[in-house]
Amino acid sequence: NKAKVLVVGGGYGGATVSKYIRLLSDYSIDVMMVEPNAAFVSCPVSNLVIAGMKTMADITNPYTGLSSKHGVRVVQDSVASIDPAKKTAVLASGGTVTYDKLVLAPGIDFMWDQIEGLQAAHAAGDVLHAWKAGPETMALRKQLEAMRDGGVFAISIPEAPYRCPPGPYERASVVAAYLKQHKPKSKVLILDANQDVTSKGPLFKKAWAEIYGPMVEYRPQHKAVAVDAKTRTVKFDVQDDVKADVLNVLPVMRAGALAVKTGLANANGRWCHTNFLNFESTAAKDIHVIGDAIQVAQGMPKSGHMANSHAKVTAAAIVAELQGMEINPHPMLTNVCMSYVDATHVIHVASVHEYQAPKKSFFTIGGSGGVSDVRSDLEGRYAEAWAKNIWADVLG
Ligand code: FAD
Repeated sequence: NKAKVLVVGGGYGGATVSKYIRLLSDYSIDVMMVEPNAAFVSCPVSNLVIAGMKTMADITNPYTGLSSKHGVRVVQDSVASIDPAKKTAVLASGGTVTYDKLVLAPGIDFMWDQIEGLQAAHAAGDVLHAWKAGPETMALRKQLEAMRDGGVFAISIPEAPYRCPPGPYERASVVAAYLKQHKPKSKVLILDANQDVTSKGPLFKKAWAEIYGPMVEYRPQHKAVAVDAKTRTVKFDVQDDVKADVLNVLPVMRAGALAVKTGLANANGRWCHTNFLNFESTAAKDIHVIGDAIQVAQGMPKSGHMANSHAKVTAAAIVAELQGMEINPHPMLTNVCMSYVDATHVIHVASVHEYQAPKKSFFTIGGSGGVSDVRSDLEGRYAEAWAKNIWADVLG
């Protein structure tokens, strides 16, 4: 009997782990991947869709490579519940699946109650987050297109940790690029709950000053506590209220709902602790959690590149365990985050992380990466290549 792995979620983490378990086991382990979306829609590069520089088609890729090239059973459905004791999962459509190993890569969900009025404003389509690429990406694009020249686009950022540390600053930058060209009297306000820009701060600030001048305004220590959809106002714990024409509020985030429901979010009820040798949950045997849903170690961002890296370590560990081989005692992770500051210029941050057995955790290797020092067209071409290459790697 072939061993069976059930993968929940077909994003950066789930699709990668599905492919690599098949590859590393010489196609001897059965992999079923359950994902509700018909195609893979990438969050990376989605800010450019919002700014009108790319289309949804540019960030959408099919799952067919996983099935046709690698024999992954891709099932369009979602997992409603998991029984870790029986090692079964129930699908939303009703069937029950048994597994030897389960990999949970559900991404993030939102803690709506942290900002009063936000859930209702979001449900009504008035205040969007567009922090999961898909229909909401285009809906935010439409709000920007409808905004008058001289209007204010405000983005509200929650306290770290959240999905993609540089993502909100990239969004503010490319929205400013669009407005500078099409609605030059407008303003971009960045309302950040954090003390300062959480990633590539000096590079972003330099780009804002040099490219956009007073059009972009950064306000730290602005922790949103309420929104009023009618007046498009956001309220803060300390600072004065801010009104905007387009209000883009990123809710406080936590691990995907299924992880919480299954009792795996054992880091403050928000994120999932894992054993970093194989990303097995510390709360349930034979369930491995990867991607944004995990409690990260020092210096590890919640990124697609990282989710892809977790997936490869996990695939190797699962194949080793199921085939009675020794597990790699010294896994490594890599990360690169490329951020557009306008349609063609990009800044990046990169790092390599090593597992240190005595501390049972990952640590950034000193001098292994760093940030780009100049904005150049070359970085823009690297960013295009990064996206093409990682999509090919994730999806086969
Ligand atoms: P996801 O990719 O979100 O995948 C989770 C999947 O699980 C989803 O497809 C979902 O449908 C599915 N799912 C959830 N629940 C269930 C269930 N119960 N049953 C079945 N399926 C389920 N990262 C970078 O590395 N570089 C970037 O440049 C970058 N830019 C970004 C820009 C923006 C605007 C945003 C929002 C994010 C960006 N990121 C970037 C971060 C990146 O998108 C995430 O870190 C990455 O998607 C995490 O991968 P994941 O597999 O954990 O989650």
